[in-house]
Amino acid sequence: MPGGVSSPVRASLGVGGEPLVLERGEGAWVFDVDGRRYLDLVQSYGAVILGHGHPVVTGAIEAAATKATSLAATTPSEVALAEEISRRVPGVEQVRFTSSGTEAAMTAIRLARAATGRDRVVKFAGCYHGHADAFLASGGSGLATLGMAASLGVPNSAVADTVVVPYNEMPALDERVACVIVEPVAANMSLVRPKDGFLAELRSACDSVGALLIFDEVITAFRIGPGAASELFCVRPDIWCFGKVIGGGLPIGALGAPRELMSMLAPEGPVYQAGTLSGNPVATAVGLAVLQFLARAPYEEASSRLEQVATTLEAEAKARNIPLCVEKMGLVLGVAFSEQAPTNFDQVKAQASSGLYASFYREMLERGVSLPPSPYEAWFMGFSHGDREVDYLLEQAASALSDLSSKRARGD
Ligand code: PMP
Repeated sequence: MPGGVSSPVRASLGVGGEPLVLERGEGAWVFDVDGRRYLDLVQSYGAVILGHGHPVVTGAIEAAATKATSLAATTPSEVALAEEISRRVPGVEQVRFTSSGTEAAMTAIRLARAATGRDRVVKFAGCYHGHADAFLASGGSGLATLGMAASLGVPNSAVADTVVVPYNEMPALDERVACVIVEPVAANMSLVRPKDGFLAELRSACDSVGALLIFDEVITAFRIGPGAASELFCVRPDIWCFGKVIGGGLPIGALGAPRELMSMLAPEGPVYQAGTLSGNPVATAVGLAVLQFLARAPYEEASSRLEQVATTLEAEAKARNIPLCVEKMGLVLGVAFSEQAPTNFDQVKAQASSGLYASFYREMLERGVSLPPSPYEAWFMGFSHGDREVDYLLEQAASALSDLSSKRARGD
């Protein structure tokens, strides 16, 4: 496997490490092939929220898999999950399932282009929407830039209609724009909050030129709180993308929107979209069981543990003269080795280049804590991270920060 992995960040190149080869997980902990145990703050990049091997998940897998692993037909669990999502996210009247978040975002912009009859897509630097060609555009020097391919193999023509603009700044929109796609809370450049009013202003800017607004909630939905970001920020997009938590750790993605828009999708409408494993009965049964569990889950209690992690980490770093800001929303953390919390991608890149995160990552790994292997990834905790895990994390972090600070003093 190229790089020894099936998805590049796992190679740990961003932190100068080796890929972890993990064999199993148990709650908040993971075990490598040599039996070493790590406290897991990756949690499958947010897909796992109840912890590894939770009985709600394993029970749902067993019950569903006993019936069928794939039927490629409409199934009751799929219908029930669609209903549950639409009940929990006001504005979502219909749902189309995919196998990944990438497909959900790819279909969302296809739908927006079809609905508006326009081609241009506006995305924000540092927001990730999967690896479909149209999203692999880079923006130059923080300015609005018409697409230049950000990966070899993506023709410039595939991103010619993608405009990349800085997060937390209002883009200039016009009648050529089909849609603006945004992570309502940016969770792929550590964690960057939307400035007050940013999402509402985006909503009105889109309305004023007839462009659609897409919220990519693959990470945020059911993780920053019991609902979606659209509800938390009181801003309703035209299309939502979902993934991760709604499959409880199995491959899934989905898009949702009001019925009128969704009816443009094949077979009701002319917008083609399909998938052999889409709406898979095991993934949807697990997703449904997890969402039902989450409806009664103690978000506030779990979220206050993350608050404790954030404030203690900042204080421990400050005591050692290490610049550190920890952002927190619901069950996600964003860690930046900077004096101030970043508000856009340029600031995130600037702090990432110090190499402090990479050193911290390695110190923590040695101490039995598995952090995301890149300064751009958010940290994920969930309902399996209890007081014992938080204590362990903070103890190891204090010791790692001490070592980091002595190394810095020595100029290592
Ligand atoms: N959108 C967002 C906001 C994501 O965080 C991700 C994955 N990290 C995706 C889309 C793509 O999802 P997937 O990896 O399931 O294709």
